[in-house]
Amino acid sequence: MKALIVTHGGVGAPTDMTEGPERAAEEGAKLLSQGKGALEAAIAAAVVLEDDPRTNAGTGSRICIDGKTVEMDAALMTSDGRMGAVAAIRDVKNPILVARGVMDTPHVTLAGEGATAFARFLGFPPYDPTTPAAREFLKKGFERVRAGTVLPHNRAWLDFAKRYPVLPPEGGCDTIGAVARDATGAFAAANSTGGGAMKMVGRVGDSPHFGAGLWAGPAGAVATTGIGEHIIRKLVAKETYDRLAAGATAQEAAEFGVTLLPKEIPLGIVVAARDGHGAATNGTLPIGVRIVE
Ligand code: ASP
Repeated sequence: MKALIVTHGGVGAPTDMTEGPERAAEEGAKLLSQGKGALEAAIAAAVVLEDDPRTNAGTGSRICIDGKTVEMDAALMTSDGRMGAVAAIRDVKNPILVARGVMDTPHVTLAGEGATAFARFLGFPPYDPTTPAAREFLKKGFERVRAGTVLPHNRAWLDFAKRYPVLPPEGGCDTIGAVARDATGAFAAANSTGGGAMKMVGRVGDSPHFGAGLWAGPAGAVATTGIGEHIIRKLVAKETYDRLAAGATAQEAAEFGVTLLPKEIPLGIVVAARDGHGAATNGTLPIGVRIVE
């Protein structure tokens, strides 16, 4: 079976960002061509995208509503049922590598301070992922809120803000993800994100939620990007995976998954399956694809 990898730079990310996902896919494909597994390839691709300051993952992650905190979510899942995730982790360069560490513990997910402490235990030094662009993004977000021009899909957050002393999220998504199939036919999915822009401190999105942000099994691997609160409610990754398991092609499953949310809620899905790969979105979704000959 040919190995393959599909990466993305987040729904809503400009299509001129394709170079990042392409480079990430290349890195993953390099490992696949050396006979490495789907998990290693997905991790390597995710690290490239986390280190790309243009993405909302790792370096460049969005800042929370308090104007200073960066909290990141990341997760990994393999077709043989291994799982590892971190949620609301702070002060690390590559949350996906910490999620990989969690896979080797008796737990599935570590969150908050415990996740950061575990990163130190693994030897990852303190790292501030904040970039000037993320600060600028936050400033623009506050300006849009003041001007009352939040996007329609963020309206619920704005209404909530009337009752809770925070402002709503705003802006694009730009989370990153990767799905891979190796030469043995094993699959893996990876997600990493700084979360919805201007989120509340402590908020955890779909990206580390198994079944919502990602799923992998014998039929394939799925990773999603979009507004976490909506993706979680519809279990988008598992629903998409179930289509694959029922015999849909990778592309059919991805297209089905996108119909699970109303068109105005940004959603992107990438799939690796037995028949090949698929990708679908109701917005823009820069992707990279490599098939290893
Ligand atoms: N799904 C992510 C979240 O809600 C955001 C994204 O995909 O861009 O945290």
